[in-house]
Amino acid sequence: MSFFNFLSNTLGTVIGAVLDTVTAVVETVRDAYDAFVGKGGAVKEAAADESRRKHDRLREVNDEIMHLRNRAQSNGRLSDQERRRWQDLRQERDDLMRVLHHAKEVSAAEKILDNEELITKVEVNLDTTHVLQYNVFADSLGKACPKCARQMKLQWPRDQPVPGPRDFFWGCTGWYFVRGGIRACNHKERLTRSDYALMMDTSAPELSLTADEFGEIVSNPGTAEIVTQRIDDLKSDLSRRKEGVELATCPVHGEHMVLKKKGNPTGLLDTYFLACPYWLPWDQGCAFIEKLKSGSQLAALLKSETGRGVL
Ligand SMILES: [Zn+2]
Ligand SMILES: [Zn+2]
Repeated sequence: MSFFNFLSNTLGTVIGAVLDTVTAVVETVRDAYDAFVGKGGAVKEAAADESRRKHDRLREVNDEIMHLRNRAQSNGRLSDQERRRWQDLRQERDDLMRVLHHAKEVSAAEKILDNEELITKVEVNLDTTHVLQYNVFADSLGKACPKCARQMKLQWPRDQPVPGPRDFFWGCTGWYFVRGGIRACNHKERLTRSDYALMMDTSAPELSLTADEFGEIVSNPGTAEIVTQRIDDLKSDLSRRKEGVELATCPVHGEHMVLKKKGNPTGLLDTYFLACPYWLPWDQGCAFIEKLKSGSQLAALLKSETGRGVL
């Protein structure tokens, strides 16, 4: 169970609160948040500063782990001292990721409290599938795998360009932990009925359209051109600042995902993807990538990073 007792994500969307009213959920979040502040927990800018420091340390830890891994591969073995160091680093990475996960929950709570009057309840059906899709690449908070306790993530089959509501599922992020060709966990779950009830800031104009209407707008060549330009600008801006995207982190390395562009895309929805900073082409690095294959994902990305979605 999450810190705030609701399943949510880094966008500040609450998932599964089917029986509650928005007011009741906001009040519960406020109580938990106030109690956290009362205990001296870091919030707002202080929390953001602390997260930045932890992320800097996480990068050093990941770099050293990679260095040891490369040494093990080229030398065939590590000394006892190096092996112990590797173990300590993995432990430190787990600890850092736990603290950062908690900071994400605090920040999600702040998004909920700051946007209280914009939050509405959305029942996901065929007309509003894009609203669910809007939420898929943001990190899930509070949905632990019953088999391995890693976080689970909202997914849909990657070969499906236009998924219906029933195509979505929860997949364990242990799927991305690969050692010796074996995945640490492949647990999946169907969405429950309550998972189809979302509470979120629906002020983005694309969310007031139906999935079909929005799909048509995004496939318009003129719109696609403008969106491409805006995402290209965002990409160069992020790369100049050497930053990843705020909403999503790699479940294995804990670092913010990097916005990337494909070489020969067939269209707007085949152009961009998010990759772990340790991702390399041809399966040589971290396996975690997230293809941005829907207008909703692009809208969520632009809204979160620039304040304005696709429309
Ligand atoms: Zn699992
Ligand atoms: Zn990674």
